[in-house]
Amino acid sequence: MTAALEPVRFDVEAIRHQFPALHQRVNGKPLVYLDNAASAQVPVAVLDAMDHYYRNDRSNVHRGAHTLSRRATDAFEEVRARVARFIGAADPSEIVYVRGTTEAINLVANTFGRSRLGPGDEVLVSTMEHHSNIVPWQIVCNQVGARVREVPIDDRGQLDLDAYSAMLGPRVKMVALAHVSNALGTVNPAAEIVARAHAHGVPILLDGAQAVAHLDVDVAALGCDFYAFSGHKLYGPNGVGALYGRREHLDAMPPWHGGGEMIRDVSFDGTTFADPPFKFEAGTPDVSGVIGLGAAIDWFTSLDREAARAHERSLLTAATARIAEIDGVRLIGTAARKEAVLSFALGAHHPGDVGTLLDLDGVAVRTGHHCTQPLMRRFGVPGTVRASFALYNTHAEVDAFVGALRRAAHILE
Ligand code: PLP
Repeated sequence: MTAALEPVRFDVEAIRHQFPALHQRVNGKPLVYLDNAASAQVPVAVLDAMDHYYRNDRSNVHRGAHTLSRRATDAFEEVRARVARFIGAADPSEIVYVRGTTEAINLVANTFGRSRLGPGDEVLVSTMEHHSNIVPWQIVCNQVGARVREVPIDDRGQLDLDAYSAMLGPRVKMVALAHVSNALGTVNPAAEIVARAHAHGVPILLDGAQAVAHLDVDVAALGCDFYAFSGHKLYGPNGVGALYGRREHLDAMPPWHGGGEMIRDVSFDGTTFADPPFKFEAGTPDVSGVIGLGAAIDWFTSLDREAARAHERSLLTAATARIAEIDGVRLIGTAARKEAVLSFALGAHHPGDVGTLLDLDGVAVRTGHHCTQPLMRRFGVPGTVRASFALYNTHAEVDAFVGALRRAAHILE
């Protein structure tokens, strides 16, 4: 009886067991997969769910009179409700299926953004944004005579909140900011930045690509207007993600892609459109991807997430302290609040050379600008080496990574 009162330990070995891809050797060494911020690995539960769809329920969704189509549609729409619950959306109709965060932001920029932006207007993004939260806004702004302005960050990689407030003037029609930075790991004070935008009547999109696998996201508590994330960073498949949009915005937004699924009635006199979210989902969707996303959310939410988070944080803390002791290591991104990402430069060595040497030891990291070139310029580096952690990583892997990095530093000396 007393066992139930004992704190739950996070059984990382049991978790690892569920990830086939983790159990392989690379260049003769056990794989140490530290590229989770790019794409996390996928557990058997997700592989099985997608396999089940293809073996049993393979069919197109919506309007099919037959059983397979009904089963596929039920599964597809049931995931929408699960996504809504997962991020705290009030209603499944506020969840639009997309290919990923990039498509979600392009959708908002091209519909909501385009219909609200005019000459002289401004969109605020920050120095730490992923290109997918800069370029879509630039494209639309260039077309309508508006401009994208950069909210600065400090030397630790934290958003400059005073500068942000000062920039929230009457010309600003949209704010788009990362919840968690992919290149630095910085966790932005999302509720606070939403509240400041709203105090000026400005709607805000949060890029949650790096947040959903590490934080409890509640869009209602955050109060944001839009929230975007990708399945492949959440232990799910590629090519699928979700956009949350407040229902009143989705109702008012014009459609983006035209085609099947998104219409109410089509004639050569004019076309009327379906209600959200279908208005934004033209064409045959990635049904297996959505089913895989649902399975990933189920799998992830079945874990003790508090314990998982504590485990991930202990990995980041240990790895940060240990690589800081290596000669020539310069940490890029030392914010007070960080999740899962450890970016660094090693002397003046090209990050790609460091990454190649780590790969020889079986350690998978990402190198380069991480689709954040303005951020790299801000820190005066061409790129970084980025180790990023998931809940299935271990302290033994931190040891292997640090050892491999020491060897790489020695070879490059
Ligand atoms: N935003 C952030 C913060 C990211 O880390 C990424 C992917 O690395 C994206 C957006 C783009 O996501 P996707 O390539 O899944 O569309």
